[in-house]
Amino acid sequence: MNKKKHAAEIVKRLEREYQDARCHLEFKNPFELLISTVLAAQCTDVRVNMVMIPLYKEKYKTPADVLKDGESKFRENIKSINFFNNKAKSVIAICNSLINNFNGTVPGTMEELTSLAGVGRKSASVILGNCFGKNDVIIVDTHLKRVSGRLGLTENDSPDKIEEDLKAIIPDDAQFRFSMRIGEHGRQICKAKKPDCENCFMNDICPSAELK
Ligand code: SF4
Repeated sequence: MNKKKHAAEIVKRLEREYQDARCHLEFKNPFELLISTVLAAQCTDVRVNMVMIPLYKEKYKTPADVLKDGESKFRENIKSINFFNNKAKSVIAICNSLINNFNGTVPGTMEELTSLAGVGRKSASVILGNCFGKNDVIIVDTHLKRVSGRLGLTENDSPDKIEEDLKAIIPDDAQFRFSMRIGEHGRQICKAKKPDCENCFMNDICPSAELK
């Protein structure tokens, strides 16, 4: 089977299994998702939600609210999140940039989003897909990286190359949903330490399947 056909079969099976896969970060608007995505690097979505949901509700509705409160108070409020010190700095820089360059709103292009401090292509793709309805984005997170490799969709390790490989074989209009669904598969079945190949609905087409 060639790679495009192999990818099409995987897209079809993921769609059947994880129809409603969605972002695990809770958000009500692009600003909340932008900040939570930056805070979620090397931290769990559960932790970020726990800390940020009440803060968005009570204190931080806009970039101006964050700046008004100041970096030290913001840092104090997020101190149970990994690397809170550097992340607080990034969030303050982002809020300044949103106000100075984008009228206080979150921009909707890859180029503009990646101009913000601490926002790489992965985070920008999360925001473009979830908040701006862009379907042609591949979110190269730890789950997508691992599961795509195991399924033989890419032989590369670098996020940029993986994104390139997948963009070449997944149709544009399916890329965002594919990203969400393969992430779900990584969380539920194709886990980092011990993939459950016996119970995987792709074990007949996966080159890494370990079956007894
Ligand atoms: S067969 Fe195993 S390695 Fe392949 S996708 Fe399924 S769980 Fe992952």
